[in-house]
Amino acid sequence: MGEPGRRKQQIVTAILILAPLLGVLAAALGVISPRVTLLDVILAVSFYAVSGHGLTAGFHRMLTHRSFKAARWVKITLAVAGSLAMEGSVISWVANHRRHHAYTDKEGDPHSPYEYGDNPWKQIRGALHAHVGWLFQAQATEEDRWAPDLVRDPDLVAISRLFPLLGVASLGLPMLIGWAVTGTWVGAMGGLIWGGLIRVFLLHHATFSVNSVCHLWGHRPFITRVDDKATNFAPMAVLAMGENWHNLHHSCPTLARHGVDRYQLDSTARLIWILQCVGAAWDVKWPVAEVLDQRRIPVNPGPTPDADRPNRLLQEV
Ligand SMILES: [Zn+2]
Ligand SMILES: [Zn+2]
Repeated sequence: MGEPGRRKQQIVTAILILAPLLGVLAAALGVISPRVTLLDVILAVSFYAVSGHGLTAGFHRMLTHRSFKAARWVKITLAVAGSLAMEGSVISWVANHRRHHAYTDKEGDPHSPYEYGDNPWKQIRGALHAHVGWLFQAQATEEDRWAPDLVRDPDLVAISRLFPLLGVASLGLPMLIGWAVTGTWVGAMGGLIWGGLIRVFLLHHATFSVNSVCHLWGHRPFITRVDDKATNFAPMAVLAMGENWHNLHHSCPTLARHGVDRYQLDSTARLIWILQCVGAAWDVKWPVAEVLDQRRIPVNPGPTPDADRPNRLLQEV
């Protein structure tokens, strides 16, 4: 990409990242209305769930990792819903994420928090890079190389091209619903701010945290490749819709369920299960207990402690 193209991309990225912040400020200052209505909350939660699961079930588990196969209407619905998250077109998102898995936490990873080194100060700089900084710096990931299967799919090419329009719809729809239900411009602006801007802000930073927080802090119960520092970070479970069980995901990337242990909430896996129950998804790659046991790093190494075993297991992968 030439310099003008790169500059244009940076401007678009800045708008996508900063505009939601305006919504947060408008709400905090009570610019449009000092009170949050029940309709505002319903719009925020429902648009979060739809666009968020479009990303997690659609962009990530179905299209990046092929964790399940689905009917065409499911593929189109999830790809359109994920585009409403305003994190780039479906094909570019998948290409970047596949590159992240190919080079996790080493040179070539588009968003590793270890980009600048792994001492604590460098990690803070790295965390900012992994969270949003990479979006401004990233070399364009070649879509033909990283997502050739998607580039050959006319449905996904069309949805990718429609990304700017879907971005407008992502903010315009909750605004329209707010206006249709209340008949007032205050209702419309409430829909835009809560169902649009604040929802996108929360969703952006929840999913960006999977790239930053979930490679820095948390538990690492499963074997991953040597450089791969992906972690499970429990507090993010609801907002990240199960994507926070990121250590398991990097250990077994194709699984449809990331929260494989007891009490590990994973609403994305629940959605895939529902789609399977109604016959709209099949060939779902659910976890198998024996495989998980093989991938698990022993917490208690037994009567003769073998402190080096986790390291050896890591080397063996
Ligand atoms: Zn990762
Ligand atoms: Zn992944």
